[in-house]
Amino acid sequence: MNALTGTASPADPPHVTVTTSWDDGHTLDPRLAALLERYRLPGTFYIAPRNREFTPAQRLSAAGIGELAERFEIGGHTLTHQRLPQLTDAAAAEEIRGGRVELEDIIGEPVTSFCYPRGEYTPGQVKLVEQAGFTLARTVRRSSLRPGPALELDTTVNAYAHRVDAPLALRLAGGRPWRAARLFLAWDELAVHWFDRCLREGGVFHLWGHSWEVDARGDWARLERVLAHIADRPQVAYRTNRELLRLAA
Ligand SMILES: [Zn+2]
Repeated sequence: MNALTGTASPADPPHVTVTTSWDDGHTLDPRLAALLERYRLPGTFYIAPRNREFTPAQRLSAAGIGELAERFEIGGHTLTHQRLPQLTDAAAAEEIRGGRVELEDIIGEPVTSFCYPRGEYTPGQVKLVEQAGFTLARTVRRSSLRPGPALELDTTVNAYAHRVDAPLALRLAGGRPWRAARLFLAWDELAVHWFDRCLREGGVFHLWGHSWEVDARGDWARLERVLAHIADRPQVAYRTNRELLRLAA
């Protein structure tokens, strides 16, 4: 950066930020957190403390949430993980606020980032999230190197093989079928591809997922491969989701 004009010179490396986020609050979250720690990567864990899609034994305990909070950001994910558009405004507001209150009671500090369960929400519910005191909210929209609006944050890659991504894979592979097939079949290939592109072009690389899904699909090695690839890069700023706020539109 030229100190006088504030303009970037061709020699300046692009600004690259890496963030990760992990949803739901499952007992496997600490295993994922240990991997992040091994590679000194930041993470935001979005937790629904009374997630009704989990059995009590699958739910991360208050003690577990407290331990995660010592190293990572904890974000709101509603109280019970219901589909927000199916709720009345009053019920949605209670879910959004209730989850926040319960998490703050556990960790003893403000919870300011939110994630919409399943990425589902109405325009009015964005306002409810803001009124509940959240300053940032993550969606499940993928394939972006720009964070977008703070209360409807976009992401780059989900740690999950989405079979609907064939056209995207072909486009990213520049029409090369074999490369496209690899990007389509393996989300870790896709993640590495996006990260390398982010290094060249600048932007925010946002990897997200679910520990229970990584486990169910036998994807721990894939996840570790991606974490090893994106870690320890001198030109990269590593940030929690909360710290993206100043980069959001
Ligand atoms: Zn969720």
